[in-house]
Amino acid sequence: MKVAIFSNNGPASQKVATALHQGLLAAGVVLDSLNPDVVVTVGGDGTLLSAFHHYNDRLDKVRFVGIHTGHLGFYTDWRDFEVAELVASLAQDNGQSVSYPLLSIQVDYADGTHPDQALALNESTIKKVSGTMVADVYIKGELFESFRGDGLCISTPTGSTAYNKSVGGAVLNPRFNAIQMAEIASINNLVFRTLGSPLIIPADEWIRVEPTDPTDNVLMCDQLGIEGRPIKAITYRIARQRIAFAEYRHTHFWQRVEASFIGRDQS
Ligand code: NAP
Ligand code: MN
Repeated sequence: MKVAIFSNNGPASQKVATALHQGLLAAGVVLDSLNPDVVVTVGGDGTLLSAFHHYNDRLDKVRFVGIHTGHLGFYTDWRDFEVAELVASLAQDNGQSVSYPLLSIQVDYADGTHPDQALALNESTIKKVSGTMVADVYIKGELFESFRGDGLCISTPTGSTAYNKSVGGAVLNPRFNAIQMAEIASINNLVFRTLGSPLIIPADEWIRVEPTDPTDNVLMCDQLGIEGRPIKAITYRIARQRIAFAEYRHTHFWQRVEASFIGRDQS
């Protein structure tokens, strides 16, 4: 089995990455950052998002594991003081894994140039640089609403605890194969009307967002911007690909949510 270490540049993470590197070599594990079977990230959830985008052309071959150098994260099950335990688990790996849905994003451009395809692990947001974003929202090909407001956030179940949660979206257990759309400050009055609450669609449906003004929109895909050309429409659906994690031990999803947002044990 081949392992890649993907670390952020912080001194705490670099120290953990060095210890991990030495531990893996001592355990006879092969390190290969080009064609890994397992990618170990060292940093935060943001580092795992970066690693996901770095290796997104080999999602069918690779499994991820995250070490968090701070608090426990949503994608990062291991703490920095558990390097020896993780090395032992990697050395005895027998392919155990769990996988979660991803968001597929297709961007059609107003100038007719070639559409872009992207994947997101957390979410994609569409906003306007300044002023109100006006966009028609279609679900499964039918006009659903005309949106006015700051923007829209379309997220995966594992991304539901990130940006989605900040804009009032529901936390979705990642065993659901679904995507969620949440509004970012919609304008709702006698003239303009949107649903006004988050909605969740199943795997055989898709959401199409058509901004009225193709220019000055900011389209994000996790922490990456898809920039430049005027946008005609963005189509969101559950991706064919999934992300796999090497599951050496199981943390119950709701326990993780409780520990991250409620922290009953610490008070
Ligand atoms: P960041 O500014 O460091 O991320 C914001 C926070 O979100 C960090 O505490 C990060 O954890 C956490 N996070 C990331 N993914 C999460 C998940 N799936 N569940 C719960 N928390 C999560 O930027 P970043 O680290 O590059 O992460 C990019 C993400 O930031 C975006 O995908 C988006 O979800 C989020 N974001 C949120 C807002 C908002 O809530 N208003 C605005 C912009 C972006 P770590 O500290 O462990 O990295
Ligand atoms: Mn971060």
